Amino acid sequence: MRVADKVALVTGAASGMGAATARLLAREGAKVALADMLEEEGKAVAAEIEAAGGTAMFLRLDVTEEAQWEAAVGAVLGAWGRLDVLVNNAGISGSATNDLYDTALWDRIMAVNARGVFLGTKHGVAAMRRTGGGSIVNLSSISGVVGQERIHCAYNASKAAVRLLTKAVAVQEGPARIRVNSVHPGLMPPMRTSGATADPVFRAKMLGHVPLGRAGEVDEVAYAILFLASDESSYMTGTEMHVDGGYLAC
Ligand code: NAD
Repeated sequence: MRVADKVALVTGAASGMGAATARLLAREGAKVALADMLEEEGKAVAAEIEAAGGTAMFLRLDVTEEAQWEAAVGAVLGAWGRLDVLVNNAGISGSATNDLYDTALWDRIMAVNARGVFLGTKHGVAAMRRTGGGSIVNLSSISGVVGQERIHCAYNASKAAVRLLTKAVAVQEGPARIRVNSVHPGLMPPMRTSGATADPVFRAKMLGHVPLGRAGEVDEVAYAILFLASDESSYMTGTEMHVDGGYLAC
């Protein structure tokens, strides 16, 4: 029960690492709001958590829409009275196209991966200030630290924005006892929106840069998020945790 009685909101919780994180936080005692645009899948994960004895609710949220953020955070406060943990996990891939200079894709990636995290942070901070603090965990990537071939540069730019947004808000909100940290997964199961990074030939090439010699699993990221969400990391803020099999150490 590492996050007993905490209230958490996880974005992109219908799938992948967001779903794994929601399940783990609930198993460790948190009440979890699962936010996503995928209503059917998100409700199914929430129902699964409840069936296992946890406490969960699904919220429909497009992270690019500020009014929807206001409503989502308002719904959490209305139901459970506080917000202790926010996991800004929703994101879209940069490898969906071979046109690495697609302008519309630049705009969409920046809107979801960067603006979405900014809006979540803005409304999450306001809620956490009401109860004296909290923990925000932002999903960046190895792509927020270095460049890669076959990935639209907007993906790297958006994840780098998340990395520095995290540090900026950590500095600004330290006195309010709001901790803000980023998690940087490496080669994981492909995203729903992955193109090149789902291609077995490209994945095999990327694996050549991973000292542990394998892709990561969603729970390996969820455990890092759990640690940063919990009071076990109470003296950590503005830091970045690489969950990448050693990719960034090369
Ligand atoms: P995924 O595609 O399985 O899940 C992403 C979720 O975000 C989906 O449920 C999707 O519906 C949701 N989402 C997308 N746009 C949204 C929006 N506008 N509003 C609300 N929800 C939205 O991907 P994943 O692998 O679980 O990735 C989770 C996070 O980790 C992302 O931020 C991703 O960039 C990052 N990441 C992934 C990898 C990887 O290899 N899979 C590696 C590093 C970082």
